[in-house]
Amino acid sequence: MKEKQIITGELTLVNHQSVFSLEGKIALITGGGSGIGYDIAQCMTHAGATVIITGRREHALQEATETLGESAHYVVNDVTELNSLEGLVETIEATYGPIDILVNNAGINMKKPALEVTDADFDRIIHTNLNAVFALTRACAKRMVARQSGSILMISSMAAYYGIDRVVAYAASKSGVEGMVKVLASEFSKFNVRVNAIAPGFIETNMMKTAMSSDPDRMNKALNRTPMGKFGKPQDIGWAAVFLASEAAGYITGASLPVDGGNSIGF
Ligand code: NDP
Repeated sequence: MKEKQIITGELTLVNHQSVFSLEGKIALITGGGSGIGYDIAQCMTHAGATVIITGRREHALQEATETLGESAHYVVNDVTELNSLEGLVETIEATYGPIDILVNNAGINMKKPALEVTDADFDRIIHTNLNAVFALTRACAKRMVARQSGSILMISSMAAYYGIDRVVAYAASKSGVEGMVKVLASEFSKFNVRVNAIAPGFIETNMMKTAMSSDPDRMNKALNRTPMGKFGKPQDIGWAAVFLASEAAGYITGASLPVDGGNSIGF
C-alpha cells in the first residue's frame, strides 16, 4: 500500500490506514491457539501480518490456523522448556523470515490462598509467566537489536496493579513482567526496539471462566468496579496489540496500557 503523506509545517501525517497496518510484518504469538492469543493473531492477520502461533496442544493450533487463514502458521512449543526457545526463534526466522513482533501472551493462573501456595506452585507460575517470557524475549531481542527494528509486547494483568486475593504467584509474575518492560524498553530504545505491555482487565476466556465460575462474589466484585459494566472480549486486546505493534505507536515504549473497561480506575 502506497503511503500518502501530508506535510504541514513540521507535522508529517501518514495515511491512517497504512500507519496502523502490519502489512509485511511477521509476528510470533505464544499461546496463540486459544483465548486472548488467538484473537491477537486474528486481529494481526486482519492488519496484514503473517503470524506464527505457538502452544503445547497441536490440535488447538491446527484448528486455529485453519480458521485464521493462509497467513497463519503454527509451531508446537512449550515456553517452559527454556532450552528450546533459541531454536524456536531460529526455525521461525529460517522458515518465514525475521520476526518483527513478539507477543508474550502464553500464561497460566492459579487461585489459592497465599498460605496454601507451595514452593512448587509458586515456581510453576513464575516459570511460565516470567522466566519463559524473559528467555524468549532475549532470544528474539538479540536479533531485533542486530537489525535495529522490532516491537515486543507482554501481556500483564490487573493483578500487577492492585491486590487481588488468592493469586499471589500470578500477581508476582505479572508485576515482574511490568518491571521487565521498563528496563528492556530503556535498554533497547537506542536500537529502535520498542517494548510495551497490555494489562487486560477481566476478559472472557477459559482462564477467566475457571477463575470466576465457582466464585460469584469475585465475578460481581470485578464487574462492579468496572465503570463500563461488562467484561472484555479477547478482540479488545487484539486491536490494542495491533496498535502497539504498529507504526502509529512509534513513540510509545515502556508503557503498560490497561484495556479494562476502566477497571483499573473504577471506584
Ligand atoms: P487461556 O488459558 O485461555 O489461554 C492460554 C494460552 O496460553 C493457551 O493457548 C495455552 O495453550 C498457552 N499456554 C499456556 N501455557 C503454555 C506453555 N507452557 N507453553 C506454550 N503455551 C502455553 O488464557 P487467556 O487467553 O485468558 O490468557 C492469555 C494471557 O492473558 C495470559 O498471559 C494471561 O495471564 C493474560 N491475562 C488474561 C486475563 C483474562 O481475563 N482472561 C486477564 C489478564 C491477563 P496450550 O494449552 O496449548 O499450551
